[in-house]
Amino acid sequence: MALAGPVLGHLDPQFLRLLDDTNDRLRRVFATSNSLTLPLSGTGSAGMEASFVNFVRPADPVVVGVNGVFGERMCEVAGRHGADVVRVDAHWGEPIDPDRLLAAHPSPAIIAVVHAETSTGVRNDIEPLGSGKGDALLLVDMVTSLGGIEVAVDDWAVDVAYSGTQKCLGVPPGLSPLTVSERAMDRVVERPSSWYLDLNLLSRYVNDTSGGGRVYHHTAPVAMVAALHAGLGALLDEGIEAARQRHAECGRLLQDGLVALGLELLVKADHRLPQLTTVRVPEGVDEAACRRELLCSYGIEIGAGAGQLAGQVWRIGCMGHTARRRNVFALLGALKEVLGR
Ligand SMILES: *Cc1c(COP(=O)(O)O)cnc(C)c1O
Repeated sequence: MALAGPVLGHLDPQFLRLLDDTNDRLRRVFATSNSLTLPLSGTGSAGMEASFVNFVRPADPVVVGVNGVFGERMCEVAGRHGADVVRVDAHWGEPIDPDRLLAAHPSPAIIAVVHAETSTGVRNDIEPLGSGKGDALLLVDMVTSLGGIEVAVDDWAVDVAYSGTQKCLGVPPGLSPLTVSERAMDRVVERPSSWYLDLNLLSRYVNDTSGGGRVYHHTAPVAMVAALHAGLGALLDEGIEAARQRHAECGRLLQDGLVALGLELLVKADHRLPQLTTVRVPEGVDEAACRRELLCSYGIEIGAGAGQLAGQVWRIGCMGHTARRRNVFALLGALKEVLGR
């Protein structure tokens, strides 16, 4: 509904108050007191790009955990910004061992990992990385975790984290919430190769704390910020813990139901995400035809396998507003019919 409201000017004091309030709400959801917390103009990938371009110097050793498409993307982005990427691979469908990440290089500039791998449905552990990171910055992709499972930026000593609006926050795509610790800002690249994502400039555009007021950088996507503000408001009204439990319950219901249909889940229970479930396509089933049938006859969209899991699994998202029991039952009933079970 916020998207349907009147569009304020991007320097209108009313909009600036809305932006301040949005940043406050983001701090609560990220569980951080970082003053540099803002919605970047761009989707989740803009957050990924900003997180590397502002902190990687040429030939910096950057350890990246890879157990899915988004870990791969991190390697690509870090490499383009000059990092000496040290990959730590784990099988897709299994979590990355934090000790392997911590041992991968004697003095990494950055340790980067995806919290919730949307391509596999795996949750990677973050907390041990925060306590073991030493002098490195800890950079975490929280695109699919924020609002769906526990996120604790300060408690886990995460230095840079970014998210997206369209996953568990249930807001249309277009912004990337970002939060950066003071420890990280002390090491920010002075003139990163991206002007648009330069945090030195963006921090003056977002914060009014220096006393000099805000400095125009680019036109804020006003309507999207209003939508995010409203979406975060709904989440905080429900309660972060209550929303997390709703995701957990729906995930459990869905996963138990899939097993009861005789299907096999890709990820073991202890690191399985509730909001994104990967299930193996049964032998002899045309996976694309099933998805088409679910969409056309039942109005339910499930995802295809991504990257090296293409054709082998389905990815069933149950996140944000869609994480409701009625949606789980509708999907399970439809899938039962489509598979003839
Ligand atoms: C969706 C996603 C991204 C990319 O976000 P976009 O909004 O598509 O740019 C990055 N990381 C993870 C884990 C994601 O699920």
